[in-house]
Amino acid sequence: MTETRVRIAPSPSGNLHVGTARTALFNYLYAKKNNGKFILRIEDTDAERTSQEYIDNIFDSLKALGLNWDEGPDVGGEYGPYTQSERFDLYPKYAQILLEKGFAYECYCTPEELEAEKELATQNKQAYVYSKKCENLTDDDKAKLKAEGRLPAIRFSISKAQKAFHENNILAFDDMVKGNLQQDTDLIGDFVIMKSNGTPTYNFAVVIDDMLMKISHIIRGEDHISNTFKQILIYEALGAEVPRFGHLGMILAPDRSKLSKRHGATAVSEFVEKGYLTDALVNFVALLGWSPSDSEEIKTVDEIAQDFEISKISSSNSIFEYDKLNWMNGQYIKKMPVEELYDYILPFLKKYDISKYTKAQLLRLIEITREPLTILSEIEYDAQYFFEKPDLTEVQEILDTEVSKNVLSYVLDVINSWGFDSEEKIHDDLAQLREHFKAQGIKPKETMWALRSALTGRTRGADMAALVCLLGKDEIIERIKKVL
Ligand code: GLU
Repeated sequence: MTETRVRIAPSPSGNLHVGTARTALFNYLYAKKNNGKFILRIEDTDAERTSQEYIDNIFDSLKALGLNWDEGPDVGGEYGPYTQSERFDLYPKYAQILLEKGFAYECYCTPEELEAEKELATQNKQAYVYSKKCENLTDDDKAKLKAEGRLPAIRFSISKAQKAFHENNILAFDDMVKGNLQQDTDLIGDFVIMKSNGTPTYNFAVVIDDMLMKISHIIRGEDHISNTFKQILIYEALGAEVPRFGHLGMILAPDRSKLSKRHGATAVSEFVEKGYLTDALVNFVALLGWSPSDSEEIKTVDEIAQDFEISKISSSNSIFEYDKLNWMNGQYIKKMPVEELYDYILPFLKKYDISKYTKAQLLRLIEITREPLTILSEIEYDAQYFFEKPDLTEVQEILDTEVSKNVLSYVLDVINSWGFDSEEKIHDDLAQLREHFKAQGIKPKETMWALRSALTGRTRGADMAALVCLLGKDEIIERIKKVL
C-alpha cells in the first residue's frame, strides 16, 4: 500500500474514553508524520449498546481535542459511508466469497447446543473451542436442519486458512510497537463472521471495512491482539493485502487496576466539564506511551507530530496520573492567552452575576486569579469575593487587631483621593498607605493583610492594585464599614 491510511473506529457504547482518545491521537500523529489520512469510522454493529448521544459525544470530543478526521462522518470521502450500520449490505458478499473458497461454512448450531459444548469444556477444565460440528455438513444435512426452522450463521474456518497460508499452526506478525507476536491457531475456535440474522460480527466487519477503506496501518489497544490473529487470516483468505498492526499498552489507574469511574473522570467530555483544557488533555494523553526526545513535556500536537516515532512508543502499560494531569492543566491555564481563556472560564463563573463587570474588567480579573488554578472550576472559589461579599470568619483574628482597625479607618479617610481610574495610580496609593504606617512602625505586610482581609476574607490572593481597581471605591467603602 503506497498511501498511509489509518483510522479510529470507536464503538458508540459510551462517551469517548481517554483511552480511545489516546489511540485516536497516535493514529492522527502517525498520519500527520507520514502525510497520510486519518479516518473516523463508527462501529455500531452492536445495535443494543449504540446510541446517537454517544455518537455525537465521540464527534464533539475528537473535534475538541483537535483530532479532526480527513475522511468520515460529516466530512465524507471516497470510501464511505463511515458508519457500519449503513454498510450492512456490503458484508454478505464477502462472506459468500469465503464460503465459495471453502474458508467459511454454515453453522446451524442453536444457542443451547453451543452452551452445552461450552459447559462440557468447563467440566473438562479445557479452554472452549468450537467443535467444528457443522464444518462438513452435506447439502442433505443442511436441508434437514433448515426444515427444522434453523437459520445458519457463517463461521470462519481457522484451520483451513492457516493450512492454506502457513507452514504449521503458528501464526506470527511483526507488530510496530511490540515486535514479533505469535499464536498457535489450533487454540482459536472457528468464529462466527455473519450471525443468523444476517449482520456481521466485529471481527468480520472490521476486516471488510479496513480492506475496502485501504487502511494501511492499524494502531489500537493491545486488548485487540487476539482479534488480530483472526483478522489476519481473514485478509489472507480473501486474498487481500494484510495491513501493518501496532498494539498499544493499556492505560491503568494509579493503583494499577483498569482505569474506571471510581478513579475519577474517564471520558473526554467529563474532563472538559470539570475544567480541563483540551490542549492540556491531548498533551497529557500523548505522554501515555510516547516520550519527547528532549526533556520538554509541554508540547502542542504539531510539535509532538514532528517528534513522533511509532517504533519509540512504549510497549508497556501507562499509568494515568491525575496529579500530573492537574499540574499540566495548570501550566496551560497560566500560559493561554487570556482572551482565549475567557471563553473556557466563563462557564465556571455562571453562579455569579458577571454583568457588574465589563469584558475588559473580566479579562483582568481572570488574569489576576488564574495563577494558582489547576482546573478551571477552582475559579468559582478563587474569584468568589469579586462577586459576593466575603465571608470574614477566617480573618476575624486579623481584623480584630488595633493595627487593622487603624489601617481600615485610615483608608476610609483617604480613599476619596485614590486614583480609581488606573491601576498604576492605585499602586502608588497603596505604596503611600504602606509608607504612612511604616513610619508608625507597622510592617508593610501587616498593612496589606488588614486591607486584603477586609476586602476578600482571605490572607492571600490576587494582585492588590488590580483587586482594588476592580472592586471600586463604593464597594470598598461598604466592605470596610461592615468590618469596622
Ligand atoms: N470498535 C472497536 C473498539 O472500539 C475498534 C477496534 C479496532 O480498532 O479494530 O474497540
